[in-house]
Amino acid sequence: MEPIKAIRGMNDILPSETLLWQQIEATMRQTIQSFGYQEIRFPIVEKTELFKRSIGDTTDIVTKEMYTFLDRNEESLTLRPEGTAVCVRAGIEHGLFYNQIQRLWYLGPYFRYERPQKGRSRQFHHCGAEIFGLNTPDADAELILLSASILQKLGLIPWVTLQINSLGSPASRLSYRQQLVEYFTQHEADLDEESRVRLVHNPLRILDSKNPDLAALIEKAPSLLNYLDDESKIHFEKLQTYLTTLGIVFTVNPRLVRGLDYYTKTVFEWVTHALGSQGTVCAGGRYDNLTEQLGGKPTPALGFAFGMERTVLLAQETQPMMTKSEPSIYFMIADEEALAKAFLLANQLRDAGWKVFTHCGGGSLKNQFKKADKSGATIGLILAEEEFKAETITIKWLREDKPQITVLQKELMNYL
Ligand code: ATP
Ligand code: MG
Repeated sequence: MEPIKAIRGMNDILPSETLLWQQIEATMRQTIQSFGYQEIRFPIVEKTELFKRSIGDTTDIVTKEMYTFLDRNEESLTLRPEGTAVCVRAGIEHGLFYNQIQRLWYLGPYFRYERPQKGRSRQFHHCGAEIFGLNTPDADAELILLSASILQKLGLIPWVTLQINSLGSPASRLSYRQQLVEYFTQHEADLDEESRVRLVHNPLRILDSKNPDLAALIEKAPSLLNYLDDESKIHFEKLQTYLTTLGIVFTVNPRLVRGLDYYTKTVFEWVTHALGSQGTVCAGGRYDNLTEQLGGKPTPALGFAFGMERTVLLAQETQPMMTKSEPSIYFMIADEEALAKAFLLANQLRDAGWKVFTHCGGGSLKNQFKKADKSGATIGLILAEEEFKAETITIKWLREDKPQITVLQKELMNYL
């Protein structure tokens, strides 16, 4: 029979990789929580309307990347393509935004129907953080500092650069949009097909084109920064001052527009050259109007999301030695009678913090040694007939050239 395979673009994360994932997740969790953020967990499936209303009808995500289906009740549901809209929905629903500042974070799978390639899959993972209730640029600085701290703790700072931009207010963006449409319409013959479609539906996204043939044209396009309203301009300048004071190196990239419609003012990305064209490992920005747009009371907000796959890939490529497994014990049991005793002793060791494999499946001691070696354990414990009767146990160092010793079971802990 043909074995059933996984869905294209939905990858298994195998035991050889999960330790690195766990270490990166733990670093992120610890760092984020040390800034006072609280974890929030929400469903994987939401009403389709939530994403249409927030991400924007003409964005790539909504027009071609969502996993949308009708449930048995004929309701249109969507596998979440991102977390911000869901976080806002949950915050409104549970009254989290009333007269309080919220710092929230989350980690989990997201789904987009895209062309699978290195650093791009159909099920992928975000670690996101969001701040609600602060409209001042110190919050932008804090959030960026948090992302920088994570990268620093992961040892990835040498491999990434920070790009920032301001998208201004909806009004200033609208006047910029008109200038941009005018400019690209004049050069319509030089655009590719994708950009011609964007010219009609979402002209700012032309700036985001990865087509090298358009680079020169985009370079000469009017700059968004010349159209910023005064408030956005001051906000952006203050943020830059804070980042400089914090020693966070950045470049202002006036072409950085991000793929979602809800952003206002600050947007930023941490980008690497080490992963080919899927170079953005973390992206975020301010979305001061989204809560109101989703039916809540006006609440300024901002956030970021790390792409976990790309962060893991970057760690694997730049520092392959990052994972280190802790020392462990392999318990060999050469006598049926000793089994229960061995299991109990093993559990005592686990309670004391050791990782312990107990040998299962019987077999000769020689055979068990082979299994012990394969397990990667650093210490072997042997409980055979002799030891069982004398209430002793034999300790053997599997990776060091030290003689084995036999000790009383009750003194085992002291020897280890
Ligand atoms: P891109 O331009 O690479 O498609 P995006 O702007 O669509 O990214 P966001 O929605 O901002 O991405 O998501 C934040 C981060 O999540 C990205 O910077 C990236 O690291 C990661 N990410 C997004 N889509 C995918 C995907 N399909 N597979 C793996 N990681 C992804
Ligand atoms: Mg995308």
